[in-house]
Amino acid sequence: MQGVYSSYIRPGNLEVYCGPMFSFKTQRLIDRVRPIQHIPKADFICIRPKIDVRGSEIRQDPLDFAKWYFVDETKSGEIYKLVKKEHKVIAIDEIQFFDKGILLELETLLRKGKNIAVAGFDLDFKGEPWEIMSLLLPKANFIDKKAAICAYPFCGRDATRTQRLIKRAPAPYDSPLVMLEGTKNIDYEPRCILIILCQENQNLSKIL
Ligand SMILES: [Zn+2]
Repeated sequence: MQGVYSSYIRPGNLEVYCGPMFSFKTQRLIDRVRPIQHIPKADFICIRPKIDVRGSEIRQDPLDFAKWYFVDETKSGEIYKLVKKEHKVIAIDEIQFFDKGILLELETLLRKGKNIAVAGFDLDFKGEPWEIMSLLLPKANFIDKKAAICAYPFCGRDATRTQRLIKRAPAPYDSPLVMLEGTKNIDYEPRCILIILCQENQNLSKIL
């Protein structure tokens, strides 16, 4: 392929940065694309779903050099329109919120030689796979999965799960898949599997 060669630009490669809440997924994605700003004749594009209201806070981060494009998560086809020829790398945060149409979008862009890096949750609040992520992970050339630190008092084990709390109590198993933090007394905390099991026995009986 003609054009810029760099270890930061890998045509046709899919990279996935995943983990629970507070595993620095967005930061890892930003760190991945940050060096590209210094590569001549190369550019990248950063995309996040409109549903993610925290985006406005991230844009105020002085360390954040990238301009984020917000795309309606129910219209993933919009991504294809945003991507220009000069965009060698496409970074997409909170990938789990997009509709399944994004899978075909990404496949097409990869086949065109784009390097795609996505970040998001691999597991939902029930500890079950997010569908989009579960379908992307087997196609990835590179997977960077990191744990957070369990926030349960005096625990501190590696947290691979994200606990949803409603008024500080574990959410019921049948509560909606998407509920944003800060609304309706919703909080999220990284938790290890041992604490998740202790806290959600009512859920466990439905899983096992
Ligand atoms: Zn724990």
